Amino acid sequence: MAIRKIARLGHPVLRQIARELNVAEIRSPEIKRLVEDMIATMHEYGGIGLAAPQIHESMSIAIIEFEDDNPRYKDSGSQELSILINPKITVLDPDEQGFWEGCLSVPELRGLVYRPRKIQVDYFDLEAKPRKVVAEGFLATVFQHELDHLAGTLFIDRLRNAPGLTPLAFTEEYQRYLTPAEDSEIGELTD
Ligand code: ZN
Repeated sequence: MAIRKIARLGHPVLRQIARELNVAEIRSPEIKRLVEDMIATMHEYGGIGLAAPQIHESMSIAIIEFEDDNPRYKDSGSQELSILINPKITVLDPDEQGFWEGCLSVPELRGLVYRPRKIQVDYFDLEAKPRKVVAEGFLATVFQHELDHLAGTLFIDRLRNAPGLTPLAFTEEYQRYLTPAEDSEIGELTD
């Protein structure tokens, strides 16, 4: 198990389409080791999710894990460690919700992103068994952020740009001026 270096904005691996794994690969010791590295790296950097391209591996693997006692993520609930291989998203409710998103690969920045509020994810687990999960609210946004990485998409691509109004800020300025009010519909997260 090793803590791996995080790929940052500008590294081409973040813009590639991650390749899907076949059954033999999914069950291989190499993939098990890679997933262990992803978990160690996510824990080291305090993320709530990580996609394989973020550690320079262009493969269709993402992990998610968070606790509900994290004060940064109000009303988020908790999510035990999920390992998703070759995941696919289906939107169940296209009504959008907004979160100020951050990303280990785009450090020191936050952007307000609107995404569908309820989705289904079909994927394979580490035994190559097909599984599915339905997610809404905070968890739905976390899944969509992570799975975007597998398609070479970053949260900054989803900002609604408007002259003078682009919702992007450095973390410090975000905390000073833009943190959503307690009763706001808008939440926040960092993968
Ligand atoms: Zn990210």
